[in-house]
Amino acid sequence: MLIVMRHGATEAEIQRVVAVIQEMGYQAQPMPGAQRTAVGLVGNDGRVDASRLEGLPGVTEVIHVSKPYKQVSREWKADSTVIHFPNGVTVGGADVVAIAGPCSVESERQIVETARLVKEAGASILRGGAFKPRSSPYSFQGLGRPALRFLEKARAETGLLVCTEAMDIEGMGWVAETADIVQIGARNMQNFSLLKAAGRCGKPVLLKRGMAATITELLLSAEYLLAEGNRDVILCERGVRGFDPITRNLLDLTAIPVVHKLSHLPIIADPSHGTGLRDQVLPMARAAVAAGADGIIVEVHPAPDQALSDGAQSLFPSQFAQLMKEVRVIAEVTGRRMAEPAPVGA
Ligand code: PEP
Ligand code: MN
Repeated sequence: MLIVMRHGATEAEIQRVVAVIQEMGYQAQPMPGAQRTAVGLVGNDGRVDASRLEGLPGVTEVIHVSKPYKQVSREWKADSTVIHFPNGVTVGGADVVAIAGPCSVESERQIVETARLVKEAGASILRGGAFKPRSSPYSFQGLGRPALRFLEKARAETGLLVCTEAMDIEGMGWVAETADIVQIGARNMQNFSLLKAAGRCGKPVLLKRGMAATITELLLSAEYLLAEGNRDVILCERGVRGFDPITRNLLDLTAIPVVHKLSHLPIIADPSHGTGLRDQVLPMARAAVAAGADGIIVEVHPAPDQALSDGAQSLFPSQFAQLMKEVRVIAEVTGRRMAEPAPVGA
């Protein structure tokens, strides 16, 4: 529930609303806005009797949020969330961000070289898994903690921000220390204890849609992060299980405008996992930007044929450079522009 204060409501009136909400056994979240302040009521599961709040001085309106996800919804916050990184890169505003890099960090040399190449092509965030969720226990599981050091090295050399996955609560602390964005993978979208830990990790989170998750379930998982106090959440459409094995997944680009309508959170697309096929990544990246995605996340490897994971969907660096050229044009015709990588040390 949202308690909207009238324009010019005093601090004492706002505090009175906060106190009554707390007396009722809920949490109050004052949200100052450009026009007026609203006080969010959280902690309820179901409709709350608003009669004690409606009559308080300074209150102009009480809005019942109709969606099961509250803080994530546009009813709760009409303005789109823009995430600001210390080096000036933003996600969720007018800029379209490109996150690129290998599926897995394989060596210092591989990640530093990839970072240089994707930066040259215009990416502003480097991806690369240190901890890999693999379907088979015999597949490469990631280098683990040493890979985090290699990602730090790549960041120091290129100035790119780093996005990398936390697979479990044990690794969350290590990952959050290194990462600029902590990725929660598709398989963990409904790992609720991990979501709570991510909500408290102190870094922006990239939450990928589960391969059999509805959009409502994706938004409810994001609600876990906001409920723990983390407002810097980026959603990611990475394809859902389809019936046709010709592609790895079915990239549901409808999710982009649907999420923009239902939520204020930014949403990016992953055409690499969404298709599983190198030659389908470029057209689907173009389509994602045309559909209004706030960014794309693309797997790029200096030698995809030798990649230890997801080689078949990883682009050669020259293909990524071409992709960036083409999505730049699409961004411009939709009134946006591709984010520029920040200089080293920014
Ligand atoms: C990845 O980004 O390499 C990955 C494992 O993604 P997802 O969780 O979407 O499968
Ligand atoms: Mn991958």
